[in-house]
Amino acid sequence: MNSSVSKMAWGNVSGVVLIVLGLAALGVHFAVDAQEDRGQPLISPTDARDRDFYAPNSETLDPDEIRIIACGTGMPTPRPAQAAACFLMELGNGEKFIFDIGDGSVERLFALGIPTAFLDKVFIGHLHGDHFGDIGSLFVAGGIAGRFSPLRIWGPSGATPELGTAAAIDAMEKMFAWDLAGRLGQTDVRGFTTEVHEFDYRKEQIVYEENGVVIRSFPAIHAIDGSVSYSLEWNGLKIVFGSDTFPNKWFIRNAKNADLAIHECFIAVPDMMSKFRSTPEAALQVGTQIHTAPEAFGKVMSMVKPRHAVAYHFWKDTDTTGPVLESIRTTYGGPLSLAQDYMVWNVSKEGIRERMTIFDEHSVNPPLAYPAMPVSPDERVGYSPEIEAGRLDMRDVLEPIYKKASEKLGRDFPYPEN
Ligand SMILES: [Zn+2]
Ligand SMILES: [Zn+2]
Repeated sequence: MNSSVSKMAWGNVSGVVLIVLGLAALGVHFAVDAQEDRGQPLISPTDARDRDFYAPNSETLDPDEIRIIACGTGMPTPRPAQAAACFLMELGNGEKFIFDIGDGSVERLFALGIPTAFLDKVFIGHLHGDHFGDIGSLFVAGGIAGRFSPLRIWGPSGATPELGTAAAIDAMEKMFAWDLAGRLGQTDVRGFTTEVHEFDYRKEQIVYEENGVVIRSFPAIHAIDGSVSYSLEWNGLKIVFGSDTFPNKWFIRNAKNADLAIHECFIAVPDMMSKFRSTPEAALQVGTQIHTAPEAFGKVMSMVKPRHAVAYHFWKDTDTTGPVLESIRTTYGGPLSLAQDYMVWNVSKEGIRERMTIFDEHSVNPPLAYPAMPVSPDERVGYSPEIEAGRLDMRDVLEPIYKKASEKLGRDFPYPEN
């Protein structure tokens, strides 16, 4: 027993010695390698380096590249995480185009810090509020913040004139009559005007052609007549934006060879009942017949075979994303993004890169692209004597502000006499 114990012990000892010797040899070897590696680090401890997010105004757009930013991907009811439909396309030649301008999207557009003078071209796919509800915000806030030219708007006609884009925008301008009157003679209001291009919703046609950019509209099938989708072609690249629609032949035709194909993908019918509080009848009708269900989205993309597909128009949450993705994957296996607000795609011939935008929640007005013009106080509408009579005497506290400004800026700013 003793001998066997001693044999085992010896055996173990010799094994341990061999292992230790082996490890020692390896250990010395590793230590030398590690020392050599530390001599020349792979990443600088001080230099800036590429990050995996997009920070607005921190990257130069290549002359042959398009950057697309999702400024609204959600549903018709507002929520902080998702504005309603809006995609911004920025081209390497400096041109910028807004496709749909749904509720809440202007806040996102402004967070990108782009001078509003360059946010002056909007293409509306249809006149549901979740696709054009923020047009008034872009009209007014864009005009205040430095768009000193008309807001240019493209959109479809309707089955009757009053259902078309021109009538909607005319009504919007009338709605802001007081807003504009209150600004006359106070600030530069050259941007408080529109240039509307209403086109026939039934046609496949070029609706914009400037600086090598071609934008086509083509019919969609959604709710009633008068919904369209768009394609943008520039520099050998093609981006397609589908506003709301039931799957249709025009999208398949016009999205052929698209680099990025953006198409609605509605929330699943069970989620419409549990989250949108729809009746089963309404969920089935709206979720599959008025819109494109996830399975149908996949079928559309399998027919189009774009370089990259983008699905939007559903609440993107932890519990909805899985089911939407699973449903799409029953019919489509290609490259895909499930869009959420602030997602960004850089598209070029070389590749397509998807990232998220990191933005400043406290961003203020974007910088001015052009200086404001001085205005004449003669244009002011003013107050009636009845309202004027209610003014308190504040001259003692306000006149010093004028004096300070005069001193600082070296010009005379007299305190206004009423
Ligand atoms: Zn719609
Ligand atoms: Zn919609």
